[in-house]
Amino acid sequence: MLKKEEPKDPAVAFRYPRVITYKHSLGYQSKFAHALKMGRIIATKCPVDGRCTVPPRIVCPMHHVKQTEWVDQGQRGKLLSAFKINFPMFDSRTGELKSWETPIVSIELEGGARMDGWCAETDTEKLKPGMILEAVWRPEEERQGRVDDILYWKPV
Ligand SMILES: [Zn+2]
Repeated sequence: MLKKEEPKDPAVAFRYPRVITYKHSLGYQSKFAHALKMGRIIATKCPVDGRCTVPPRIVCPMHHVKQTEWVDQGQRGKLLSAFKINFPMFDSRTGELKSWETPIVSIELEGGARMDGWCAETDTEKLKPGMILEAVWRPEEERQGRVDDILYWKPV
């Protein structure tokens, strides 16, 4: 019978965040990313029912037709729903365990598309469906063409 050997160092640890440099082509969504860098939210529009989609899609998921029209969604939107995470979760960008003070909101933008984001108002009792929220952007020189270029949404 073989004797089972104990590993000398059984724990494998990774340190986050790892530093990995890569270039990722956004393809069709490049136009969306460039707009975010300029402080604009744009969406693709379905030619059948006019529904706008953020993030943009090449093909409408409902009607299976190409979406070629881009529509500016404005800087404001109507609050649809809000919720708060009441336990620590990992931040996918840093790998750190983090408490989330700001609620996550779902918004219907002026242009008709829907998107999610963080809200400046931390008291969810003050967030009512239908209230108007406005995008607060990172300073222009810090934007990278990502949806988190919108720092948060604030009540108007
Ligand atoms: Zn459609």
